Amino acid sequence: MTNKDKKRILTGVRPTGALHLGHYVGALENWTRLQEEYDCFFLIADYQAMGDHLDDIEGIRRSVYEVTLDWLSVGLDPGKSSFVIQSHVPEHAELAMLLSMVTPLGWLERNPTLKAERVRLESEGLSVGFYTYPVSQVADIALPKANLVPVGEDQVPHIEMTREVVRRFNRMFGQTFPEPDSLVGRVARLPGTDGEAKMSKSLGNVIYLSDEEEAVNQKVRSMYTDPNRTRADIPGRVEGNPVFAYHDAFNSDHDEVSDLKDRYTKGLVGDVEVKQKLANAINRFLDPIREKRTYYEGHPMVVKEALFEGTRKAKSVAEATMREVREKMGISYFVDES
Ligand code: ATP
Ligand code: MG
Repeated sequence: MTNKDKKRILTGVRPTGALHLGHYVGALENWTRLQEEYDCFFLIADYQAMGDHLDDIEGIRRSVYEVTLDWLSVGLDPGKSSFVIQSHVPEHAELAMLLSMVTPLGWLERNPTLKAERVRLESEGLSVGFYTYPVSQVADIALPKANLVPVGEDQVPHIEMTREVVRRFNRMFGQTFPEPDSLVGRVARLPGTDGEAKMSKSLGNVIYLSDEEEAVNQKVRSMYTDPNRTRADIPGRVEGNPVFAYHDAFNSDHDEVSDLKDRYTKGLVGDVEVKQKLANAINRFLDPIREKRTYYEGHPMVVKEALFEGTRKAKSVAEATMREVREKMGISYFVDES
């Protein structure tokens, strides 16, 4: 099957730092699998990053490169999929503006993910651009007419809103965009090393895919665990304990994990051993990713070429969609009507 006959995927990340274990199990793992069956557009959403990182364009610029290295290191393949820099396809901005007219304000106000993020950002003086980012995400998905959006759980409300906005557009102007489905990864929301519900760049509670072995050991050693367990002989809780959430997600030795859980709940194992085994498991998991990264770090032209080619392809798809959108909406004023 050629890419032309395949269904489309659009998904992405914000270039606000390197990628972490949460991205992997929540999203990237699915992406690597799905790129075999779908025509994939992986978006580096730099416009979206500016909503709350406008004071650090240099950081965004660095992260565009970092994220691409992370993608290549986990096995995303620019020969099969398109890596796209959002701001280099300005049609994203045009469609976002048009779709903002289609979206009632109330749909943004009730969005639970946005509400939670707003609490964090209000004290810093939230920008209009940040507030409307879910609409820009609708446009990102609609532009290549994506059918599927593989994301972490926090993004699901945005995909639901996407379905509603494109349905409304299609009703008003005629069938144009498919209603996309979301697909959540193996771990819907990986907790942070500090025990917070989500591992997140903005919260600084992350283990990066690019962390060296010693950084992983140190982060795991200081991880939040069952706070009631002040001695190794006190029975501990496995549920809600991020150390065990990570064992479940990254330790491929399932016998070791069930043995540790069993001894932990009986007060027969110390935290030091549980954490040491976790650090080893994460390092085993990261080793092949590190190896690929070393290769791509030595071949920067391959990294740049991936971005260049993917963005070029996305631009041509975007131009075709926008011609259709302008025509459907009846805003091609200079077209001869005689
Ligand atoms: P920021 O804090 O800057 O928003 P982030 O860590 O949330 O950063 P994004 O670029 O916003 O990262 O998210 C990219 C993708 O990774 C999204 O699909 C998101 O749902 C997913 N994701 C991010 N963190 C996690 C996590 N801890 N568990 C599962 N999925 C996650
Ligand atoms: Mg986020």
